[in-house]
Amino acid sequence: MAKVRKIVKSITIDADKCNGCKACEVICSSWHATPRYSSNNPARSRIRIVRSPLRDIYLPVYAGEYTVAECTGRDKYIIDGKEYNECDFCRASCPSRDLFKEPDSGLPLKCDMCEETPALDKPKCVEWCLAEALSYVEREEEVEEDQPQLGDVEIGLGSLIDRHGLQQVLDTVARMAKP
Ligand code: SF4
Ligand code: SF4
Repeated sequence: MAKVRKIVKSITIDADKCNGCKACEVICSSWHATPRYSSNNPARSRIRIVRSPLRDIYLPVYAGEYTVAECTGRDKYIIDGKEYNECDFCRASCPSRDLFKEPDSGLPLKCDMCEETPALDKPKCVEWCLAEALSYVEREEEVEEDQPQLGDVEIGLGSLIDRHGLQQVLDTVARMAKP
């Protein structure tokens, strides 16, 4: 496959600096509300904080890919004396938990790095993190030429089909399309 040079966007997370304030969750859900800023509900955020104040654990995690099946990962990690579950680090919208699912519809959520035209200087969660636990990084890399990416609609439809079956989704769309 052909290689191309491309700007890769990423966010570096310094969990030691996170204080669990949830400002990132609030701004992400509010930015993605329709109309924009019309509501804020961290359950709709594409970044979530794994939060356990008694254990001094505040771990920001970004929503990644949707997956049909849960994995078998049940390992425990002890880092700086704090115990984490393997799931704590996972970015997937997966059937075994409510994380990264739109609460009303159950449709998967995925971080879009706040894609916008014109481009933002930095993603909203990074801008709002006053503790500087999140840092936006752009770097040029040689990567394989882009494969067509699934858009939100395809990902959402795929998750509905996984849950309800193709025929029920088709019947529902046909019913809704009637004038
Ligand atoms: S805004 Fe920053 S400090 Fe606050 S919860 Fe999010 S990552 Fe942590
Ligand atoms: S980069 Fe944007 S879409 Fe992704 S979690 Fe942060 S605010 Fe949400």
